[in-house]
Amino acid sequence: MVDVAAPEYHPQAVSDAAERREQLKQVYLEASACTRCVLSETRTTVVFGAGNADAGLMFVGEAPGANEDKQGLPFVGQAGRLLDKLLAEIGLERSDVFIANVLKCRPPGNRDPRPQEIEACRDYLHAQVDLIEPNVICTLGNFSTKLLRGDTTGISRLHGQPEVHVLGHRAVRLYPIYHPAAALYTPSMLETLRADFARLPELLALGPPPQPEGFDEPVPEIEPAAAFPPDGEVPPLDSTLSAAAAAEQAAGEAEPSPDQLGLF
Ligand code: URA
Repeated sequence: MVDVAAPEYHPQAVSDAAERREQLKQVYLEASACTRCVLSETRTTVVFGAGNADAGLMFVGEAPGANEDKQGLPFVGQAGRLLDKLLAEIGLERSDVFIANVLKCRPPGNRDPRPQEIEACRDYLHAQVDLIEPNVICTLGNFSTKLLRGDTTGISRLHGQPEVHVLGHRAVRLYPIYHPAAALYTPSMLETLRADFARLPELLALGPPPQPEGFDEPVPEIEPAAAFPPDGEVPPLDSTLSAAAAAEQAAGEAEPSPDQLGLF
């Protein structure tokens, strides 16, 4: 049974960074016990995302791999080390940015995410965007670029070209770039990725794009599971939220620590 309970966060515009961080923790706790899709049956850990809860720059990858699933943190393998290096080259580190994935749980054997999984997870990403309030979101590779843009145009045509998109309730500068895992083995792609990274400081300097009206409106109820699209259709991610600290949580044990949350 898919759990489609409404999320516990309150996405009205929250100006105070400390309050937004607290709400993000609540979303993290909810995600940590998520059973909205079948990935909850095979994952080791929910990889919520990690970094600065008030970051101006966010990265969105596809889904956790085996290392991430074990450690509960995004991009901890070779691709993650490359991401760290590219960040350092522009004077940033993980504690300056927030790194997340479209899917918070690892698909077994790293198979492609399924539409039902994408749909079940998208509210978490939108809550992250609403609460972190990034100005720039780098989509890493084809998968997250297509999902967040709601269009099938590939990364090789789009990389390095920022566009304003509304995600969740927030307008952001979406900046598609190659996935670091793809660049690991293709030197020309690595150079392109490095050049695209080099433009990030000027993009960040632009600040936030104009925001949509009506952010204070109540958020509509989440659609029931029956609304999931059939297999094969990839739904665009365009709006709102909503599981293994589960056993501990259910048993009333301690909340995951801020370290597990990975927020700085
Ligand atoms: N690749 C991704 O897209 N995300 C991760 O967290 C790790 C590798």
